[in-house]
Amino acid sequence: MTTARVVDLDLTGRTALVTGAGSGIGRACAERLAAAGADVMVVDIDERAAKEVAAATGGRAFPADLSDLDRVDELPAQVDVLVNNAGLQVVAPLTEFPPDKFSLIQRVMAEAPFRLVKLVLPHMYQRGWGRIVNISSVHGLVASPYKAAYVSAKHAMEGLSKVTALEGAAHGVTSNCINPGFVRTPLVDKQIADQAAVHGIGESEVIGRILLARAAIKELVDPADVAELAAYLCTPPARLITGSSITIDCGWTAH
Ligand code: NAP
Repeated sequence: MTTARVVDLDLTGRTALVTGAGSGIGRACAERLAAAGADVMVVDIDERAAKEVAAATGGRAFPADLSDLDRVDELPAQVDVLVNNAGLQVVAPLTEFPPDKFSLIQRVMAEAPFRLVKLVLPHMYQRGWGRIVNISSVHGLVASPYKAAYVSAKHAMEGLSKVTALEGAAHGVTSNCINPGFVRTPLVDKQIADQAAVHGIGESEVIGRILLARAAIKELVDPADVAELAAYLCTPPARLITGSSITIDCGWTAH
């Protein structure tokens, strides 16, 4: 399903930096913010994907591995809209969870967002306007077994977002989290294929019975739905929404 563009947004003259913009939700956010007139900086570990999205959006590519925090500090600081989106998943029980993967996930999904917020806030404060959109997850609010690193990193992002909201308020900067349930992206396609293999069932059964077991609406979210919400957070009527965590989870966390 394709999402209609419902938000009237003009970001002409604004810059937007989106991490993990080579794929999935990040790509959808880059496309949406570019459509609103923003000059988009496409950050991704995959150089080819970053260049392709930059070409498609009229933006600029910044290939970067966000687990390299020195590289993160070198990214552009002249940013009006920051979308902290890049992420990865590792699934394993705590007793077997690889410590190096735990550290990697904290670096990419908690430390890099902190470094980026720190990097861009002076510019936002100077302009008296800034929007920080953190792509968290239902796993920023509740836990699931076997996802210790991911759940920990997303909870850290929730805390960072709230502190940013409090400090940024006097400077016209808002900071919010978006908390999707399952979104149809390569990250989830891989989980569907893995679960189908593990349980010996078809992919549609994995979606209905396993992934969406807790969802009231049995549908995967479209990346464009998430991008539309990110765009809304940049509009004038959203200026008083800050420190919030907005779910788009088919009712998952209503239980
Ligand atoms: P995706 O399609 O895999 O996109 C994530 C992007 O981040 C990829 O382009 C990936 O590059 C990039 N990336 C990974 N590690 C990186 C690193 N070290 N440095 C720079 N870029 C890196 O995933 P997605 O589903 O759109 O997820 C985007 C965000 O939404 C994540 O934070 C995720 O936790 C969150 N989220 C997703 C869902 C969902 O159901 N899909 C639900 C809730 C929240 P490679 O592909 O080359 O690794």
